[in-house]
Order: sequence, then C-alpha cells, then structure tokens
Amino acid sequence: MIIDGAYGEGGGQILRTCLALSLVTGRPFEIRNIRAGRPKPGLRKQHLAAVRAAAAVGRARVRGDSLGSAVLEFLPGASFAGDYEFDVGSAGSCTLVLQTILPALVLADRSSRLVLRGGTHNPGAPPFHFLEKVFLPLLHRMGPLVQTELRQWGFYPAGGGCIQVEITPVRRISPLNLTDRGDLRHGRAHAVVAGLPRHIAEREGRTFASSVNRAFDYVVEELPAAMGPGNALMAEVVSGNITELFSAFGRRGAPAERVAGELAEAVNAYLASGAAVGPYLADQLLIPLALAGGGRYRTQPPTRHTRTNIEIVRRFLEIEISLQPGEDQCWEVAVGPSPNPWDKITT
Ligand code: AMP
Repeated sequence: MIIDGAYGEGGGQILRTCLALSLVTGRPFEIRNIRAGRPKPGLRKQHLAAVRAAAAVGRARVRGDSLGSAVLEFLPGASFAGDYEFDVGSAGSCTLVLQTILPALVLADRSSRLVLRGGTHNPGAPPFHFLEKVFLPLLHRMGPLVQTELRQWGFYPAGGGCIQVEITPVRRISPLNLTDRGDLRHGRAHAVVAGLPRHIAEREGRTFASSVNRAFDYVVEELPAAMGPGNALMAEVVSGNITELFSAFGRRGAPAERVAGELAEAVNAYLASGAAVGPYLADQLLIPLALAGGGRYRTQPPTRHTRTNIEIVRRFLEIEISLQPGEDQCWEVAVGPSPNPWDKITT
C-alpha cells in the first residue's frame, strides 16, 4: 500500500498511524512525502524513534529510515511483546513513540515493559499526564491495562524525560461509547516550573482559575532546576463519564497570563460544548475504536488531525467511520464494521 504523507494535515501522525496499523495488521506500506505539510518536512528524531521502535516490536524490514528522509518502506514481520527501551535522542515526544507501538502491544500474547526517554511535556504532543489521566483509563475500559510512571519530566529543548510503561494485553478490545460526558465533578489545574521562577506557575494558576468559567482549584509544583528550563500548565476536567485534560506550555516571549489565557480558552470551549471528547482525544481514539470494531463519541468540531486520521485508518482497516455534525456545537464520530457486500445480494 502506498500512502501520501502530504495528505490532509500532512504531519507526523500519518506516519505513526501507518506504523501502528501495519504492526497490527501485518500489512506492509510505503509512505511518500513524509510530513510534507510541516516547515521542516521529512523524518525528524522523534519520527525516526517511532520508526525504530515499530521496527523493533514488529521485527520489520525498513528502508528510508534516516534523518530528513521523505520516503519510508516498512515490511513488518510478527509483533513481539517483551521488554524494550527506546530513546528519542532529543527532546522529541516519547509519548508519541509510545502511541505508535501501543496498539500492537495491547493485542499481543503476553505483557510488555517499556522504558521511553525523550520529552514528556511537549507542545504539539500529548503530555504524559494526558496519557495517564485520559487516554489510558479509557483504553482500560476497552480491556487492556497500561500502567505508567513518570520517572523524570522532559521539556523542550533540554529533554531527558523518562517514562516507564507496563502493558497487560487482551485478546480483543471492546467498543467504547462516549456520547454523554456526565456532570462536571471537579476541575483542577497543575502549574509546573523547572529552572524558572516559581511566580510564573503561581500567576498561571491564579489567572487560569479566574478566567475559566467553572470553579477550578490549582496546585503549583517547582521541579529541580536541572530538568529545565520548562513550564507546563495542565487542567484536568473530571466529569461523570470521562476525565479530559488540556494543556498549555510556557515559552520565551509569552507571559504567564497569556499561557493561562490560552488554556482557559480551550477549557471554556470544551465546557460550553456538550462534547465528552476534546479535540486532541478525538483523533487519538480512532485507532482503538477501529481495532475494537465499534464505538462512538461526541466531540468538539473536528480538527484536521481527526479528519486526516479517519482516512488513514480507513485505508488499513475494513471499517466504517462516520463524522456528522450534531447539536450543542458537537460532532458525532461513529465507528462500525464496514457493511458486508454479500448482505446486499439477494437470492
Ligand atoms: P502530529 O502533529 O501529526 O505530530 O500529531 C500530534 C499528535 O499529538 C496528535 O495526535 C494530537 O492529538 C496530539 N496532541 C497535540 N497536542 C496535544 C495536547 N495538548 N494534548 C493531547 N494531545 C495532543
């Protein structure tokens, strides 16, 4: 199968979805124009780490796995659970490396233990706490148990983060329905600084709590300076049926108040919508639901990542995925078995 990496959103997720589903299905693929939609296209360290991790888990033959490469061929063998250690070798996100190999390992015949090194709290990637509090608990509802520990925080550009993961697989993943988020139970923000003044986190927590449209409490955490410089602001929204987590990251030239304002805007949009699933989780749930063969969720207006991922998942799996606008500024994603053409034949 040939995949155009320039399709739709044109980022690294196209590559990671291909790797993940190639491992699960055993289907080889070739991807061209890798990350053509990004300012620095081709394979960067984080993508190369994902390719190497997938190749190790799937005993795959690979061509084109070098920095900057815009073409990759991937021919998987069998997938093997076990103990692995992967290092991105930069501050690139190690949570994205995990998501690449997770589908194969949650469907494996025995448990796996992973040590992943790189960034753990990166802009443009799921922060460790998103996996721990949002994605993995939902995956657990579908069967697999994935336990994680944050051994060391890793921020851009220093990196040096480390997460440990234990995966207890299942034979089959069960479908998941997330159409109603339930009543809001609790809102809590977590402002973290490393190697930066504590008042940054304090101002972020205060500004966020006064800008968000529901009651939120906040905690401030000051990490050892050697892990920095780094600053992450995360907000956990605990509702009856789902916990969501939104994040914003401090950066040079962005005052704490602006970072807090960005986060409050994202959380307010989620709260104002009737959606259970936020915009990032929406693109990440597609693979587990497609592998389960069913499920549905109500989400905020779909991002290009979600629309693009739907198409890539469809290329690999015989599955129907529909995306329909609904009420309360929500969209409904429904995943189901593709209609059997033989059903249409009447004798
Ligand atoms: P790409 O930009 O193609 O490398 O894909 C980035 C991936 O990271 C997508 O699956 C996004 O949903 C995910 N992502 C980006 N930012 C966040 C965030 N703040 N929280 C959770 N997931 C995120």
